[in-house]
Amino acid sequence: MLTMAAATIPYGLAVKIPKSSSAFNYSLPLGRRWSSKSQRQRKQPWRRSSYRRRCRCSALPGGVDFENLGYDLYDLLGVESKAGQDQIRRAYRWLQKKCHPDIAGPDGHHMSILLNHAYSVLSDPNARFAYDQTRVETLDLEGYSGQPLYSKWFGSASEERALFVDEVKCVGCLKCALVAPKTFAIETVYGRARAVGQWADSEDTVEDAIRACPVDCISWVERAKLPALEFLMSKQPRVSVRLNANNSVRARNTNVFAGAERLLQKLRNKKQKASKFEVSICRIS
Ligand code: SF4
Repeated sequence: MLTMAAATIPYGLAVKIPKSSSAFNYSLPLGRRWSSKSQRQRKQPWRRSSYRRRCRCSALPGGVDFENLGYDLYDLLGVESKAGQDQIRRAYRWLQKKCHPDIAGPDGHHMSILLNHAYSVLSDPNARFAYDQTRVETLDLEGYSGQPLYSKWFGSASEERALFVDEVKCVGCLKCALVAPKTFAIETVYGRARAVGQWADSEDTVEDAIRACPVDCISWVERAKLPALEFLMSKQPRVSVRLNANNSVRARNTNVFAGAERLLQKLRNKKQKASKFEVSICRIS
């Protein structure tokens, strides 16, 4: 299996590309230095000195699937995701002038290919729209570690069930935490309950706590889905609940259970794509 290396291309981006025997380092040729307060820099961020860092790049083999290299095309050009076509074109041209092999020499070749790819996608409205859709999905997964965010596992390794509290629905009555205190706790920001210890109390005690919940927001879920559910719950908009206030079930923005299914499906697709990419890289080298 070919090993992959994280190489830094200008503007601090880490790009996963195959380790190549012809890896090289070069510094981007520096053009005119603009003052840090220059109005031109504010309007054209790709001109800032931070975008002219030392470039460390490895060779890109021909036929690489750009979509799976894992870099952000807007970051590559140093523009905002809402940048207009004019701004994208100016950023691309300015960077190409620095990286084009005619100016930077053979070392600029691969950077130039990456810039061409970024520009070809972002300058085509249809390709850009499709890229933006994929980008949003990728950003959705940011921060997901595959491990539960809130709860610790105290059950047996073979146990398949886990407890999950739908915090958007919870009205903070404390009943579950009083009945099964090792399993449930009230988080301090919103005053809502969450499962913190999986199988820390006996099953009978937990069942009593589930029955005590007045809004039916505690459920058994598949253990494999727990990390996705807790991750999505951490992103749900909530307001504080107060004891003795007339708390009611809140409207939710999304269904976390359906969202967890979608998230896991996205991860499976991503894994599948990545393994196809590795195979294609192995064939190329
Ligand atoms: S019993 Fe239900 S509503 Fe009350 S704190 Fe626990 S999860 Fe929330």
